[in-house]
Amino acid sequence: MSVVGGEWWQRDAERLWHPYSSLSDPSPVRLVRGADGVRLRLDDEAGGTVEAIDAMASWWCMIHGYRNPVLDAAVKSQVDDFSHVMFGGLTHEPAIRLAERLVEISPDPLQHVFFCDSGSVSVEVAIKLALQYQVARGNSGRTRMLTVRGGYHGDTFAPMSVCDPVNGMHSLFTGALKEQVFGPRPPAGFDRPDDDPELRAWAAALTALADERAGEIAAIVVEPVLQGAGGMYPYSPACLRVLRDLADRHGFLLILDEIATGFGRTGTLFASEHAGIDPDILCVGKALTGGYLSLAATLCTTDVAHTVSDGPGGALMHGPTFMANPLACAVALASIDLLLSQDWAGRVAGISAGLSAGLAPAASLPGVKDVRVIGAVGVVQLDGPVDMKRMTDAVLRRGVWVRPFRDLVYTMPPYVCTAEEIATITSAITGAVEEVG
Ligand SMILES: *Cc1c(COP(=O)(O)O)cnc(C)c1O
Repeated sequence: MSVVGGEWWQRDAERLWHPYSSLSDPSPVRLVRGADGVRLRLDDEAGGTVEAIDAMASWWCMIHGYRNPVLDAAVKSQVDDFSHVMFGGLTHEPAIRLAERLVEISPDPLQHVFFCDSGSVSVEVAIKLALQYQVARGNSGRTRMLTVRGGYHGDTFAPMSVCDPVNGMHSLFTGALKEQVFGPRPPAGFDRPDDDPELRAWAAALTALADERAGEIAAIVVEPVLQGAGGMYPYSPACLRVLRDLADRHGFLLILDEIATGFGRTGTLFASEHAGIDPDILCVGKALTGGYLSLAATLCTTDVAHTVSDGPGGALMHGPTFMANPLACAVALASIDLLLSQDWAGRVAGISAGLSAGLAPAASLPGVKDVRVIGAVGVVQLDGPVDMKRMTDAVLRRGVWVRPFRDLVYTMPPYVCTAEEIATITSAITGAVEEVG
């Protein structure tokens, strides 16, 4: 048992769940003493502290870095106004302005916004919208989602039901999870042309599945262009055009989960832009508040909004306690404005080039199966499971924080990383992979 963090670690281990954790056999955790810019300050084994570049951007969120002065100011100013009010019967400027901004920057057909507290709940709301939409259209038999294998959409029950059945541990919840319709995973690789044979075979399989099960399907749900927690797996935008076409043909809604990919991560503001298609429903979260507070949103078209509103329930049946929390809305607005006020696309492209160049040498290391980069996401895939503790420590000794999973060591750094910091990240990952294998 590691005692990094000493007494605190013991107290943590006695009381706290961490993500996907065991209380019988707790994994080591590091105590954070501070965070500033792109750096975390963590306790080390020797009783001192160590600084590390956060190559994870706190799981995709912290795009502008920690203690960003603009975002700090936005939160403080809203605290001085009011921190929270119920959203039933009341409204406020931060929510209105943020909704307007999201509609302005997202694909054109999306016109209406539902705010909630987490990505998983935004996917719940998207699925609920789709089900209520089909009921309103007289298709109450259409209760399933069509998705592809390898996806990740969150940990509550409806999102979990559309996660990859194997990685998402569906076997643990047999009988409790809605059975959805799973197509094959799109063939790997962003750069496949439309007439690529594997892509055409995939399209044919999806088309056959959709034709066969159309009467049961309410909507298609996917992460566009990059499957995140399901494997850091980029695929061709052409696949999204196939899905858009199937949705149109059969009257399914197309739900795009951009909780990980939104706000520039793959090189376009939203990943759907790579494909030139628009969703009927869009989920955003994670980087929405620049990592400051938990907030997510579900956007939809006017057709979806009015069909649901004019349907049997007469309303969208959802309303969380902390809906449109003003602090979260205020900082989200500041984060989006800060992003758009700079050449974010140039920054992401620069990070992308730095990741490609810096991780390229990893490709020839023993034990490395694949190295891939899309936008500001860099991935080293090993040919077996990562020794999580040894790998994390080896990267940390090189001044960088990562959180590998399965066979993947990867980074999606804050956009404010300099070229030198990106080089530190890539050489730390490459060096650690060489050392640990
Ligand atoms: C993280 C994530 C979610 C879940 O968001 P939470 O805020 O953790 O509930 C859903 N979909 C995708 C694509 C994600 O990356």
